[in-house]
Amino acid sequence: MDIDKVVSAIQSVLPERAFIGLHEPCFAGNEWGYVKECLDTGWVSSVGKFVDRFEEQLAAYTGARKAVAVVNGTAALHVCLLLVGVERGDEVLMPALTFIATANAVSYCGAVPHFVDSEEATLGLDPVRLEAYLEGIAEIRSGQCFNKNTGRRIKAVVPMHAFGHPVDLDPLLEVCRRFQLELIEDAAESLGSFYKGRHTGNWGRFAAVSFNGNKLVTTGGGGAILTNDEELGRLAKHLTTTAKVPHRWNFCHDMIGFNYRMPNINAALGCAQLEQLEGFLEKKRILAERYRDALAGLEGVRFFQEQAFARSNYWLNVLLLDEESADQRDALLAQTNDVGVMTRPAWMLMHKLAMFEQCPRMDLPVAESLERRIVNIPSSAFLGDGDGKA
Ligand SMILES: *Cc1c(COP(=O)(O)O)cnc(C)c1O
Repeated sequence: MDIDKVVSAIQSVLPERAFIGLHEPCFAGNEWGYVKECLDTGWVSSVGKFVDRFEEQLAAYTGARKAVAVVNGTAALHVCLLLVGVERGDEVLMPALTFIATANAVSYCGAVPHFVDSEEATLGLDPVRLEAYLEGIAEIRSGQCFNKNTGRRIKAVVPMHAFGHPVDLDPLLEVCRRFQLELIEDAAESLGSFYKGRHTGNWGRFAAVSFNGNKLVTTGGGGAILTNDEELGRLAKHLTTTAKVPHRWNFCHDMIGFNYRMPNINAALGCAQLEQLEGFLEKKRILAERYRDALAGLEGVRFFQEQAFARSNYWLNVLLLDEESADQRDALLAQTNDVGVMTRPAWMLMHKLAMFEQCPRMDLPVAESLERRIVNIPSSAFLGDGDGKA
């Protein structure tokens, strides 16, 4: 890989600015107006119309029956896991190649993350290898899946749509049926991404979305729980709002709930952001095309593209180095960041972190390889504006 050529190719599609971040938010719509309305009316906190409106907009866009807005994506994952019945001592399958939140949320339940390899075609959990692995280690007893090696129940699987690219969900759903596993999608990065025409986050019992500042749509900090089960949706709302029994003045709570509710002022920002989602997605696809063209034909590296079954939001654009060029990754990271083009490697694999190194896992050759080879490059929607520089 010729690093200079790769850096020039990346720069050729970017505007000339002193610094270009990885994913900068864009507030070009009704953000000021809606937030001002919160301040003017005093409805900034746990009650207000923007929370309901944000939830309705989200449900309408994703096609999920119910959306529950919460304080962040990690909290959303936590509640999804509790509501499918993940209990202390259970195991939950997830990719080793994910952001820390997926594994943390499982730990909050007293459960144990169990790491699964990824596939290069999607950068996400490999359903074929998972099935073969479970054939070896799992047994079904009275309708529940147990790990023969640890004796623990395996309750759920949490695929993660990495950088916005959908996991191959159909074969994964088949694995879930066969092994009695609940499916929770970590759709934190995939708002605006579709699998076979249906929105991600709409395929399992639950999904978690994030609206952190670096995500495609931001509420400052925030998240949402998506589900097609109305009853579970109501329960999710109840559990994330201190489980208070509705009453004009009484403080009666019927469960140990969480104060995970999204404040109205954040939801106001979210409503304005969702109105612009289609525009963000269009620009991001234009940017991805420009990267694809600029990087085409360069040796040792390729621009990662969606599968035929997917329509990706291209949340964070991915450069995939060849195995032979992987040892140049850090030099590429240094050179791009030196010229003000922010780039980043993928997350350190979960099983390499001290807290999770004892957790069960399958062989992870693909995740190990991807960890060495992924470089994220600037992906903000505004970079797809205008005619570009190319
Ligand atoms: C952003 C993200 C989350 C949730 O993050 P929050 O910062 O808690 O909103 C969860 N999983 C993945 C993969 C993420 O990228």
